[in-house]
Amino acid sequence: MASNTEVLVVGAGPAGASAAAWAARQGRSVILADAARFPRDKACGDGLTPRAIAELDRLGLGDWLRSRTLNKGVRIRGFGRERLAPWPSGVYPAFGSAVPRTELDNRVRLAAVASGAEMIEGTPAVDATIDEGRVTSVTFDTDDGPRRIGCRTLIVADGVRSPLGRRLGRVWHRTTVYGVAARAYMKTPRSEDPWITVQFEMRDQNRSLLPGYGWVFPLGTGEVNVGVGSLATAKRPSRMALRPLLERYAEDLRPEWDFDGGVRALTSALIPMGGAVSGIAGRNWALIGDAAGCVNPLDGEGIDYGLESGRLAAELLDEPDLTDTWPAILRARYGLAFSLARRVAGIATAPGVWHAGRPTIHFQRMVDVMLRLMGNLVTDEDRDVVARLWRAGGRASIRLDSRPPFS
Ligand SMILES: Cc1cc2nc3c(=O)[nH]c(=O)nc-3n(C[C@H](O)[C@H](O)[C@H](O)COP(=O)(O)OP(=O)(O)OC[C@H]3O[C@@H](n4cnc5c(N)ncnc54)[C@H](O)[C@@H]3O)c2cc1C
Repeated sequence: MASNTEVLVVGAGPAGASAAAWAARQGRSVILADAARFPRDKACGDGLTPRAIAELDRLGLGDWLRSRTLNKGVRIRGFGRERLAPWPSGVYPAFGSAVPRTELDNRVRLAAVASGAEMIEGTPAVDATIDEGRVTSVTFDTDDGPRRIGCRTLIVADGVRSPLGRRLGRVWHRTTVYGVAARAYMKTPRSEDPWITVQFEMRDQNRSLLPGYGWVFPLGTGEVNVGVGSLATAKRPSRMALRPLLERYAEDLRPEWDFDGGVRALTSALIPMGGAVSGIAGRNWALIGDAAGCVNPLDGEGIDYGLESGRLAAELLDEPDLTDTWPAILRARYGLAFSLARRVAGIATAPGVWHAGRPTIHFQRMVDVMLRLMGNLVTDEDRDVVARLWRAGGRASIRLDSRPPFS
């Protein structure tokens, strides 16, 4: 294990692996360290939006991805209705995919290694040495005892709980909306279905409506990823018992999907959202991905933001001071959308709102708009009414924020 490197990346999920790949492609010395040994699993729906596909293309993983199952869009369901909403065509590819994280994350981190990064596995980062605001080294717990690695720049991509980020002063604000979600795998002859399914009508055992959603993401491997999620805030914590709900949801779906056997690998986790995290950068260090709350509040997808934020952070390695630069860059890129989306998502945690929202599913146009916003597929170049309203709403929302995203 080298004792010094130019760029040290802690956490080799999509965010960290992307940062390591892009930094190594600049010819820098890079160490990518993870507490786990790969391939490792991660609680996730495994869904890849067109934004994620665009980032994987950039990394050179497009051919591999296209050999996997691809989907045309989302089958949105609920309240006796079903709509097919194709992924919009525009600057992003007009298709999505879903790849189990054991495989996806392994692919991305191998792309980082192929680009020249040195990978160390099974080594949790446990501490950082800070000198005049700069991280000079990180201490890892290894099989041979504690080992220190010195660095010029540190990128922290250690996920939702971000233990190293916390050591550096990161605070996750759960007064702002966050997600709780569970997923499992089911065997089915329909694992190549060309649509992912999102269901907005979830009911408990008494058939009462719950403020949550369900999904089925075909993986093309003989299995689908089935999951349920809910939005919450510190004031309105989710009262949904996710595991029994997921098991019941899978049973409800059994005849339609012809499931074979029971749920496999059921697991759940929290999801930070909408940049509701402060303390995300210092002089020579920056948090990316889930550690920085880079997740879409409307649907909990964060793989694309992880990959993107890794690439963006790697472009800043020569910046003299990241303390204000990094949050400002994330705010400029995601601030408006995150501010408005988390406001909308926060409203959805209120009792009754879910029920009131049900007419939206009756109108194909509204479903198409929902999909565009959920996938954060509105770009600065878009000039249509929805894009203009979304941007204007975002500007108004961020002005009202007592704590804007990433602050
Ligand atoms: C149930 C569920 C469903 C979801 N579904 C989707 C979906 O369908 N699509 C989507 O885009 N997003 C989804 N998300 C969100 C997505 O999983 C995350 O946004 C994404 O994994 C973020 O990537 P990351 O690289 O920031 O973090 P992670 O993927 O969590 O990677 C963090 C890495 O850091 C390592 N690590 C942690 N602590 C240390 C330490 N001390 N030292 C060294 N290494 C450490 C971990 O081992 C891990 O490998 C879902 C989340 C949940 C919980």
